[in-house]
Amino acid sequence: MDCLFCQIARKEVPAEIIHEDEFCVAFNDINPAAPVHFLVIPKKHIVSVADITAEDEAVLGHMLKTIAILANDKGLNERGYRVVSNIGEDGQQTIPHLHFHVIGGRSMTWPPG
Ligand code: 5GP
Ligand code: ZN
Repeated sequence: MDCLFCQIARKEVPAEIIHEDEFCVAFNDINPAAPVHFLVIPKKHIVSVADITAEDEAVLGHMLKTIAILANDKGLNERGYRVVSNIGEDGQQTIPHLHFHVIGGRSMTWPPG
């Protein structure tokens, strides 16, 4: 699949990978919005949250649990953090491969723009 995040998952494009397992990969965002900013993606090419099917439910649950573990490892649990997934044009999704942004290490603002 000619997709940037599929290529990162296959190690064809370099990234600062912080976690990998059978189902997902986590790597630092190339343009961090905060002191901690990493992305968690499924190894399977799923375009966005809007494209999740019943067969993906276990992978999605696993990804959220992985986010909690990695955020704790990064020391974010005490003060909290944000998990975001942009979907489609209005959501300002720029890479059409499902990803959760995990952002922390500073106080966030709300609502996002
Ligand atoms: P989106 O805008 O789709 O929600 O998020 C895409 C994210 O991927 C952005 O935060 C952007 O900085 C990040 N990104 C884009 N290209 C690359 C890349 O080649 N490597 C890494 N590590 N992150 C990338
Ligand atoms: Zn992909």
